[in-house]
Amino acid sequence: MSALALLHASQLVTLAAAKKPRVGKELSELGIIRDGGILIRDGKIDIVGPSGEVEKKAKDAEIVDLGGRVVLPGFVDAHTHLVFGGNRLDDFERRARGETYEQIAKAGGGIWSTVEKTRAASEDDLFAAAKKRVDWFLKCGTTTIEAKSGYGLALEDELKILRVIQRLNKETSLEVVPTFLGAHAVPREMSPEKYVDLVINEMLPRLAKEKLAEFCDVFCERGYFDIEQSRKILTAAKKLGLKLRGHVDQLTNSGGAKLMAELGATTADHLEKTDEQGIAALRSANVQPVLLPGSVYALGLKEYPRVRQMIEDGLAIVLATDFNPGSSPTPSMPMILSLACTQMKMSPSEAISAATINGAYSVNRGDKIGSLEAGKIANVAVFDCEDYRELAYWFGMPPTHSVYLRGGRV
Ligand SMILES: [Zn+2]
Repeated sequence: MSALALLHASQLVTLAAAKKPRVGKELSELGIIRDGGILIRDGKIDIVGPSGEVEKKAKDAEIVDLGGRVVLPGFVDAHTHLVFGGNRLDDFERRARGETYEQIAKAGGGIWSTVEKTRAASEDDLFAAAKKRVDWFLKCGTTTIEAKSGYGLALEDELKILRVIQRLNKETSLEVVPTFLGAHAVPREMSPEKYVDLVINEMLPRLAKEKLAEFCDVFCERGYFDIEQSRKILTAAKKLGLKLRGHVDQLTNSGGAKLMAELGATTADHLEKTDEQGIAALRSANVQPVLLPGSVYALGLKEYPRVRQMIEDGLAIVLATDFNPGSSPTPSMPMILSLACTQMKMSPSEAISAATINGAYSVNRGDKIGSLEAGKIANVAVFDCEDYRELAYWFGMPPTHSVYLRGGRV
């Protein structure tokens, strides 16, 4: 039996609370213990409290003095596209020069260039590239991520990506929650109708049989998958026991949020264009909004989701990076906290709740991770600052000091 005591955090941000995601004013209640400590036994949290009390019960434990640093549960990043081939540097430079999306696509850029590179890459190549990115997430204090397929757009290539995610779970310390996003775009070689049939009749049954995904996601948007096609795919996924997420209302207000409410989805993601009716629908069906300010920022856009209204209406907000090579190339949750506060006018405490405990609920793990409480998995991030608000205040560098996964330092 191994025991570890982390003592003398300036602020131990526990996020301890009722067993449900936080809404409204609860988002600001962080459950901070000053000069706090945690006792960890066999990878799980045993005791959380003032350092003096924890130390008394830690006679058999290895002691680590945190030296007055801030301690949080590791971030839970509930929306990433981790596994892909190549990068989109040429698109990035063209956009910086002011070229439009159409010009970039014409020059061979856009999502299709990533699909081609992902298809051409071997499983080993994709694994090696993704493993490097796993280290980036850990360096930012993230201990769990959700990761989507979606750059294969063909049966074997989608399975290849999901197998890379499965292998990352076995061979790295980061926990990766797998999501199938076969309906990310329509492949060039196929009509939309034919591709929707392929997703429903071949991809979904196969990955469900091999247990390669927990969630199914769809890019519901004009020019990608319309409401009817999205409903068909997500309904088929639900029948196979998958939980649902969706890229909705990012570029146009197409009724995607309402569709996610109708289907009882776990999350509705993006929501930059969602209106009041969409927000009300999410509320009535208890769908968690996953907001992705990194993609608004990196595309140089101005319109962020209506987060203040969502909080007022009682939605259990989640913040995530949307890590992907095209529109949001950042693994940094501290950067997302900064954007949430400066661009969306969330308070630092609201943003931290959205990036930890609420993220945990949105990946179906609210009972295991996302807060520092007895019985939970000891995923702990230590930051080189004295006040939790510094996480959102200093930007451009993750102030991570050390990270513990299941009680082991990584
Ligand atoms: Zn996305």
